[in-house]
Amino acid sequence: MDGRLYQPKTIHQLVEEFDFRFTKSLGQNFLIDGNVIRKIADAAQVSQGDAVLEIGAGIGVLTEEMALRGAQVLCVEIDESLRPILKKTLGHYPQVTIHYQDILKVDLRALLEERFGQRPVKVVANLPYYVTTPILRFLLREDYNIQSIHVMVQREMAQRLVATSGKDYGSISVYMQLRGRIEKVLNVPASCFMPAPRVDSAVLAIVPKFDPLLDYVQLEKIVRGAFSKRRKTLLNALSTYGLPVEKSQIEAALLKTGIDPKRRAETLSPEDYIRLGANFPKISGGKGGEHFGE
Ligand code: SAM
Repeated sequence: MDGRLYQPKTIHQLVEEFDFRFTKSLGQNFLIDGNVIRKIADAAQVSQGDAVLEIGAGIGVLTEEMALRGAQVLCVEIDESLRPILKKTLGHYPQVTIHYQDILKVDLRALLEERFGQRPVKVVANLPYYVTTPILRFLLREDYNIQSIHVMVQREMAQRLVATSGKDYGSISVYMQLRGRIEKVLNVPASCFMPAPRVDSAVLAIVPKFDPLLDYVQLEKIVRGAFSKRRKTLLNALSTYGLPVEKSQIEAALLKTGIDPKRRAETLSPEDYIRLGANFPKISGGKGGEHFGE
């Protein structure tokens, strides 16, 4: 192929040659801006010999950049109809492998180990937006030896994930910030994609963190409960959320942590929730473990 894959004319040619149909429901908005692609790879410091997991190869625009930098790339792509295209666009890079499956159904530990052994892995992806939160939760729920995550997400989602106060700060912000150090590294306008999505985007850098002493499942229930009625007091929100814990026990846990039960969920930092979790009665069962919405 002549030139780089991200050039719109190349994408048009491929679409025509393989009669490819973009599937909107799979979040297929491919990057067509070389600067953005380079900036993502720069932010992730992708270099010779790196082990990289990419989620959603598309036609391979980001993969190509990482392969040219000498990285070993494992892509997980759900859409089998991209197989002939990817064979043509990336088939000549021996260091690129593509695994066709829904990332959420992959045995990630086994797949990473098979491909990269015990090496630390960088995740780099332009994520499908319909499934951003489940994918990030999936990557952060266990220690997969992921050293960093650089992902394109919807701008509004990026704002929520990095928020430490205000209306964007919610249960998803706290949950994600408990699991990783998160920063926004780049704003990306909709015009950098084909087809252009209706929303703007941003690239996040996440460094996963794991504290083996923390009970993340319990913490998630407390955080969700606290934010379930964000205009109400913490005591009110937590005691009416459906946790199998008495109101008096919740009040005692808040007081023991030095948190006024009349405060609201958004006034607590992720660290405050960790301290509250340590004083909270053990929750087994009850509400709160279900998925966060987008
Ligand atoms: N990396 C390419 C780029 O930047 O142009 C494609 C990015 S596009 C936003 C998202 C890609 O993720 C699509 O190729 C889509 O088919 C794929 N995808 C969607 N859902 C997926 C899932 N659950 N597991 C793996 N890949 C998925």
